[in-house]
Amino acid sequence: MIKRSFFALSQPRLHYDLLEPDPKEPESIPVPASLTLLIHEEIDSGKQALIQKGDPVQQGEKIKLYEDSTVYAISPVSGTIKLFDTYSDDFGNTATYVIITHDPAKPTEPSSFTPEETLEFADDFLRTLPGDLPFETLARKDLKIDTIVVTCSDTDILSTSNQFIACKYAEEIKKGALLLKKITGVTKLCLTLPENLDLESEFTNFLVFKTSPDYPSALPAMVMKDHLNMVPVPGKTPEEQGVCFIRPEALVSLSRVYESRKPVFEKIITVMDKTGSQRRVKAVIGTPLSKILNTFNIHVNEMDRIIIGGPMTGFATFTPHHPVVGDMDMVIVQDRDIVPELSDYPCINCGKCVRICPANVPVNILVRYLEADQYEEAADKYDLESCIECGLCAYVCTARIPLYQYIRLGKHELMSLRA
Ligand code: SF4
Ligand code: SF4
Repeated sequence: MIKRSFFALSQPRLHYDLLEPDPKEPESIPVPASLTLLIHEEIDSGKQALIQKGDPVQQGEKIKLYEDSTVYAISPVSGTIKLFDTYSDDFGNTATYVIITHDPAKPTEPSSFTPEETLEFADDFLRTLPGDLPFETLARKDLKIDTIVVTCSDTDILSTSNQFIACKYAEEIKKGALLLKKITGVTKLCLTLPENLDLESEFTNFLVFKTSPDYPSALPAMVMKDHLNMVPVPGKTPEEQGVCFIRPEALVSLSRVYESRKPVFEKIITVMDKTGSQRRVKAVIGTPLSKILNTFNIHVNEMDRIIIGGPMTGFATFTPHHPVVGDMDMVIVQDRDIVPELSDYPCINCGKCVRICPANVPVNILVRYLEADQYEEAADKYDLESCIECGLCAYVCTARIPLYQYIRLGKHELMSLRA
């Protein structure tokens, strides 16, 4: 668990950034000599592995660790498997890095790639598209998803990746949406847009929800409440309530796959350096973050921090070699001098967290139970599962208690206990 708050950016804000007028094309990062694919399954030495160090791989090839694996990656390049490594997230869940040496002389995508407009095909080959289309969720028989919401409003502050994609690729978003409707059978298509971004006329075939500039208006739970007139049910995901939120980039990728009949791998990310200056980049999935940071002379020193996602809801990675993945919208590098120190201060009961919480969670009491690892009680009596994970409580906490991190860990532990 990360016992520090992220909210020490030089100018923390509670308003979403608006896309600048006439945005420039993202800067392209060349395909690196070595790529890292993240597979959400740990290495099990008791099983017969399907892939080994030294095996050749082809661009577009599906890579699974074991015959019975339900998760996979698609190789963005042709080359050779160089090595395997273990990845641990901030909850201690382990996964596997598969590192591939890129050989540009080897043939590119397999000629057999023929995309079919079925959910089975999409779930089988398109789960790792840039933008991270949640086909695994959409294919679940126990869920009855009847509404798709495309998040053209960025969900965290500082990032403008989704707005940029909505502005530049509206046609592909519409084509992708038609394909997704056909593949999934979901007919209600909605789309969020910042109220100050004049793009509504581009998306007439969607039910458009204009989100306010005030954070956290674009978070899924707030969109459900404010625009779909639904009360988010504690402990249930939006998908369990019939609503699936997807990035606009996922629809662009889907449209490109079916149009070109080739797999696609290029992802757009907003990168923010230690001075707070931002740029948009295009990089192939699997590109190590270190490669992007080196391209722009962003040096990561000991104790600096790399945050994946925005400052309110992102998480820290412990290695600059972590790769670009399909759901990565933003990367922030924080200088160690502005990373806040560990907070050992007790709660002083100032009540700021309770006043700011959009879900009316009694955060000051809840955190006492989470600190004592009493997760069931935190959920039963103090609304742990009502939290919509906006991070505002940690942002305002006088004692600088990493409340958001405690809450995320608490929910994770609760899920493990119940499982
Ligand atoms: S993160 Fe904090 S402020 Fe936001 S909903 Fe959860 S408890 Fe409330
Ligand atoms: S904001 Fe921090 S110090 Fe104030 S009541 Fe909440 S947890 Fe306690």
